[in-house]
Amino acid sequence: MKLIIAKSAGFCFGVKRAINKAFEVAKTDSSVFTLGPIIHNPQVIEALSARGVGVADSIADLKRANAKKVIIRTHGISLEDISRLKQEGFEVADLTCPYVKKAQHYAKLLKEEGYQVVILGDIEHPEVIGLKSYAGKNAWVVKDAEGLPREVKSKVGLIVQTTQPVEALKKLISKVVEQTRQMKVYNTICSSTALKLKETEEVAKGADVMLVVGGRNSANTTQLARLCEHLAVPVHHIETAAELRLDWFGGVRKIGLTAGASTPDWIIEEVIKVLKDMGGCKDNGN
Ligand code: SF4
Repeated sequence: MKLIIAKSAGFCFGVKRAINKAFEVAKTDSSVFTLGPIIHNPQVIEALSARGVGVADSIADLKRANAKKVIIRTHGISLEDISRLKQEGFEVADLTCPYVKKAQHYAKLLKEEGYQVVILGDIEHPEVIGLKSYAGKNAWVVKDAEGLPREVKSKVGLIVQTTQPVEALKKLISKVVEQTRQMKVYNTICSSTALKLKETEEVAKGADVMLVVGGRNSANTTQLARLCEHLAVPVHHIETAAELRLDWFGGVRKIGLTAGASTPDWIIEEVIKVLKDMGGCKDNGN
């Protein structure tokens, strides 16, 4: 069997930066907590927990746990939460991805310039909750073009959750243009997401079966699995090598492998090792 691995599989720039810094903080500080999981990968959360970095779900939890230092995760948090953390006297290590910061900046700018801000994204995702706080209480969050309210506005400004597909933005732009005379678009989609989707598609098209490695709670990992399904390639979304099953590979000549932006190298390497042990897989050297 041949193993084809997407070149961009695994940690993106923002996650790599945040995880490295979180492990550094764990060495030097005590009573460290992240506000919400730092990334959507249970194995990384466990590794940080083993080094004393806990996860708190709310500011009340941080207070109950006597936290001293609070790590802000890659997705960012709301303006209200930032000011509450400061008021409560926590030390803050802000590891929000610079691309998310840029989207937050544009959300604020559009609001200040009097645009009806529209955020394309998942209303329950922490990044979008944070973005909405910058865009103001009147901002609209839409999950797709069909979700756009029918109201006509004189000025509409668009920003996008960093992990959204560009096709969704294109559809939204075509819809918004029918409802306003002035439109400003900040394409805040992260290039790492687009690259991962492109490479996954290329790998999937040449594979008999696809393995997508990463947290089941990771939006971008799930998006990669959905893309493979859409291409009608058999796909298995796994978190670790322990989930691999030999019967998935009967009659298979080429296995494609990709991994979400929050999947660490050690998990990908373990999957590759187990695949090689299972069926003498040879990888493509990427
Ligand atoms: S996917 Fe992009 S925006 Fe999200 S953390 Fe990674 S680099 Fe940052």
